[in-house]
Amino acid sequence: MSDLSEIKDRLRVFARERDWDQFHSPKNLSMAIACEAGELLELFQWLSESDSRGIMKDANEANRIRQEMADILIYLIRLADILDIELEDAVIQKIDLNAVKYPVATSKGTARKYTELDNA
Ligand SMILES: [Mg+2]
Repeated sequence: MSDLSEIKDRLRVFARERDWDQFHSPKNLSMAIACEAGELLELFQWLSESDSRGIMKDANEANRIRQEMADILIYLIRLADILDIELEDAVIQKIDLNAVKYPVATSKGTARKYTELDNA
């Protein structure tokens, strides 16, 4: 298991060796993330809630999901590198922010957005 820093370095080398830095603009990378997210969504399209929960029982589908999730993370790590964002720090800060936006007392058991919670 590699940490994000090792993956970031490998992706830098991967892009440099192929002269792909020229294509890795923030615009292109953000679009690539959305495209890969769409590929992940496609695997769940038309499934019932129950089928979606059981999808990992199918080895072929499980592998496809694993690969699309990897694609998303690869582009996200690459975008963070290009924009000089420490992704691990950003994630921790966002979790902390979400804890404030979604206090257990008002958000437990509901999928309502924080703007619709009774957080007076
Ligand atoms: Mg893909």
